[in-house]
Amino acid sequence: MKNIYGIKRTDLEEYFLSINEKKFKALQVFEWLYEKRASSFDEMSNIKKDIRDKLKADFSTYLITIKRKQEDKLTKKYLFELSDKNYVEAVLMEHDYGVSVCVSSEVGCNMGCAFCESGRLKKVRNLESYEMVEQILLIEKDISQRISSVVVMGIGEPLDNYANLMDFIKIINDAKGIAIGARHITVSTCGLIPKIMSLSEEQFQINLAISLHAPNNKIRNMLMPVNKVYSIEDLITAIREYIARTNRRVTIEYVMLDSVNDSLENANELADLLHGLNVYVNLIPYNETNHLEFKKSNKETIMKFYDVLKKRRINVTIRKEFGSKIDAACGQLRSKEV
Ligand code: SAH
Repeated sequence: MKNIYGIKRTDLEEYFLSINEKKFKALQVFEWLYEKRASSFDEMSNIKKDIRDKLKADFSTYLITIKRKQEDKLTKKYLFELSDKNYVEAVLMEHDYGVSVCVSSEVGCNMGCAFCESGRLKKVRNLESYEMVEQILLIEKDISQRISSVVVMGIGEPLDNYANLMDFIKIINDAKGIAIGARHITVSTCGLIPKIMSLSEEQFQINLAISLHAPNNKIRNMLMPVNKVYSIEDLITAIREYIARTNRRVTIEYVMLDSVNDSLENANELADLLHGLNVYVNLIPYNETNHLEFKKSNKETIMKFYDVLKKRRINVTIRKEFGSKIDAACGQLRSKEV
C-alpha cells in the first residue's frame, strides 16, 4: 500500500479522478495533512465517510518513528527507525535566519568516498519519498516550529535515488504541502553527471551543491571513486551546462583535508578550474572520525587557501561547524548503535 506522505498533489488529483471524484479533494486532503497536520483520514471531517474509508483502504498513514535524539546548543540529531527496522538520521541546525534540516536520502551509501563515515555502511536501499517527507514532519512536530530550509546532505547520494527525490522535493515545495520555497532546498551530489543533466531540466529552482573536494583527477580519484566514472573535466563541463540551462549559481563543496588537498598550489588549481563559472565555493572544515585516518586542515591553512581563492576572484565562504560533539557533523551521520 502506498504511503500518503509520498504522494504528490497532482498524483492525488489523478487518484480522485480515477475513482470518479472531483480533483479538488486532493487539495482538501493536503490541507488536512500539511496545514492542520491531521494524523488520520478519520479527522478529515469535510470529506465524506465513504471516501475516507476508500482512502484508508488505499493509502497508509504510517509514520517512521524517532528512535533517539541527541542535542547540543544549536544542533539536534534525530535517529529514525523505518518500518523495516533500518535506521537513518537527520540533523537540525539553528541559524539566525531560521532552522535548517539536513535529511538522508538512502539507507547507507555506495559512493565510497574515502573520508566519509556514512559510506562505511553500503547502500541497503533507497528511501521512499514518504520517508524523506516524514523526517521533516516529525522534526517540525518535535520542535513545534516550521523548518525554513532543507539540505539533502545526510546519508546517501540523492541523485542515485532520483525519482523518489523528485517526488519528495515536489511535496515539500508545494504551497499546499510543507511549503518550503525551492530556493531554500539544496541537493548535494558527488557528481553523477547524467542525473545533474536531468535535474537541469526540472521545472523548479532548487540549489545544487557539488561535492568536488579536489582540484584535479589525481587527488579526486583517491578520495572519490565516482571520479573514475565521471572525471573532473566532464563534471566541470556538466556544471557549466547546468548553469547555462538553469541560470542558477552552483555551490562547490570542498572539504579541507590536511596535506591532501589543502596546499596553495591546490587552491590555485581550483581557481583555474572554476574560472569564469557562476559558482561559489564552500570550504568545509573536515570532521575527523574515529575510523578514518584523514585529519582536518588547520585554521591558518584554511585561511590561506581562502585568501588565494578570494584574490583570484572566486566567491568563497568557510562553513560554520555544527554538531561535531554529538556526531551530527557532515559525514558522521551513522549511529553508533545501529
Ligand atoms: N552524497 C552527497 C550528499 C551526502 S554527503 C554528496 O556527496 O554530496 C554531504 C557532504 O558532506 C558531502 O560534501 C560530503 O563529501 C561531506 N562530508 C562527508 N564526510 C565528511 C566529513 N567527515 N567532514 C566534512 N564533510 C564531510
